[in-house]
Amino acid sequence: MDYTAVIGLEVHAQLRTKSKLFCGCSTEFGGSPNRNTCPVCLGMPGVLPVLNRRVVEYTVMMGLATHCRIAEESVFARKNYFYPDLPKGYQISQYEKPVCEDGWIEVPVRGGVKRIGITRIHMEEDAGKLVHESGFDMSRASFVDFNRACVPLIEIVSEPDIRSPEEARSYMQTLRDIVVYLGICDGNMEEGSLRCDANISVMPKGADTFGTRTEIKNMNSFRFLHQALEYEIDRQIEVVEGGGRVVQETRLFDSDRGVTVSMRGKEEAHDYRYFPEPDLVPLRIDGDWISRARENIPELRSEKIHRYITDLDLPAYDAEVLTGDRAIADFFEAVVEAGAHPKAASNWVMGEFIRLVKDRGPEAGRISPVQVARIIALVDSQTISTSAAKEVFEEIFETGRDPERVIEEKGLTQVSDEGALREEVRKVLEDHPDEAAQFRAGKEKILGFLVGRVMKATKGKANPKMVNEILRDLLSK
Ligand code: ADP
Ligand code: MG
Ligand code: ZN
Repeated sequence: MDYTAVIGLEVHAQLRTKSKLFCGCSTEFGGSPNRNTCPVCLGMPGVLPVLNRRVVEYTVMMGLATHCRIAEESVFARKNYFYPDLPKGYQISQYEKPVCEDGWIEVPVRGGVKRIGITRIHMEEDAGKLVHESGFDMSRASFVDFNRACVPLIEIVSEPDIRSPEEARSYMQTLRDIVVYLGICDGNMEEGSLRCDANISVMPKGADTFGTRTEIKNMNSFRFLHQALEYEIDRQIEVVEGGGRVVQETRLFDSDRGVTVSMRGKEEAHDYRYFPEPDLVPLRIDGDWISRARENIPELRSEKIHRYITDLDLPAYDAEVLTGDRAIADFFEAVVEAGAHPKAASNWVMGEFIRLVKDRGPEAGRISPVQVARIIALVDSQTISTSAAKEVFEEIFETGRDPERVIEEKGLTQVSDEGALREEVRKVLEDHPDEAAQFRAGKEKILGFLVGRVMKATKGKANPKMVNEILRDLLSK
C-alpha cells in the first residue's frame, strides 16, 4: 500500500533584541554562565515582568510578512511545568489569544511553489540551559545557566500542509530567509537561534483523515530535519503495516545513529494548566503600530529573486546566489545603481567578490560598489583586459584604493593601438609558420594558440578582441 506523510512544523526563532523579553538583561550569546541575569529572569518572588516593545514590533513584522491577521488584543499566558532550567515553574507564552493568526507563505517545491498555511505566531520566553558533567571520581553534577532564560522567542506553527521531508526542509529554509531578511533573527541554527519541532503522521494514499502523529523535538539543522522525517515516515509505515498503531508521543532525533527514539508520552494542553498571565495586561496593537511595522518590512528574498529575474533579466541561478546573503544582494544592487549592467555586475559579485569575501572575510573588504562599477566600465571600454581587471579588483578589495591609480601603477592599461598590435601579430605569425598554415588549411582551433602567443608577447596587455580580428585579417591574406 502507498502512504502519504502529513507534516506540521513548530519553529522557534530567537529575536535579535539587545535585551530580554521581560527585563533589561542582555541577550548576548556565549557569556560566562549566569552573568546576564537579574531577579526578574531568575523568577525571584515579588518581581514583575515588563514587556519589551521591540519584541512586539518584530513579531508584528513577521506576522505581516507571512500574511497573518494581527490581533487587536492578545494575551500572555502561563504555561506551567516543572523543570530545573525554568526558574518560575512556568513559562510566559501566549495560548488562546496569540498575536498573529491565519497566515501563509509560499515555498519552492519540485515543479513550482506551494502555499503552506501558518496557524499562528506567538511570543514566548526561552528557558535556561542545563549542563551535565561527570567528574573523574564518577560523581555527577548538573549546572544551570540562566543567561538564555527569558530571551525572546517567536513560535511559528504551521498547518499540517506539508507532505514530504523535502517540503519540510524548503518550508524551514523559506522561514529562515524571511526572518533573516526582516533582520529580526540571525538565523544561526548551530547556536539554536532557529530550531524546530516536527509533527508527523502517515495515512493511506487518498485517505481523508490524518493518522496519529508523533512530535520530533528540537532539530537545529535542515539536514537533521530531513533525516529525522525520512526515518520517522518509514518507522510509522512499518508499525502500521505490521498491524500496530502509532502511539502519540514525543520523540528525539539521535543524529549519530540517524534514528528517532521515544522520549515521553505526549503532553496535552491541560497538562500545562494554562491561564492568563496576571502580571501583564492584555496587549493592544492599534492600526498605527501595524502601519509602522509594515513600513519597516524590506523587500524579502523571494521578491528579490523574482525582480532580479524579471526586471534585471538575470538567470535564476544568479538571483539565487546573489540573494543567499542580504548583504551581498545589497552590494550587488549598489553596483547596478552605480551604472553597471546587471549581468556584468552579477558576474563580478558572484565571482570575484564572493570568492574574496569567503577567502578573507567580509570585514576585510574595502572595495565600494562604485569602484566595482568603475572596473566594469574600464573592461567595457577595453581600457583593461578581464584578467587585469581581476588583479585590480583583488588589490582594491584589500586596499580600497582608486582603480585608475592601481591600473597606472601596475602598468595594466590594455594595448588597443591598432598599429602596435598588428606589429606584434605579424611577429608571432612569422615565428609560427606551421600553425599559420594549419589555420589556413581550415583548422580553426589553432587560432586560440596564436592569440595566446600574442597575449604572452604583450604580457597580457593586448586587447584580445582586437588580436583576434587582426589575426583573422592577416591570415586571410
Ligand atoms: P500541540 O499544541 O499539542 O503541539 P497543535 O494542535 O498546536 O498541537 O499542533 C502542532 C502541530 O502539529 C501543528 O504544526 C499542526 O499542523 C501539526 N499537526 C496536527 N495534527 C497533525 C497530524 N495528524 N499529523 C501531522 N501533523 C499534525
Ligand atoms: Mg507542540
Ligand atoms: Zn533579567
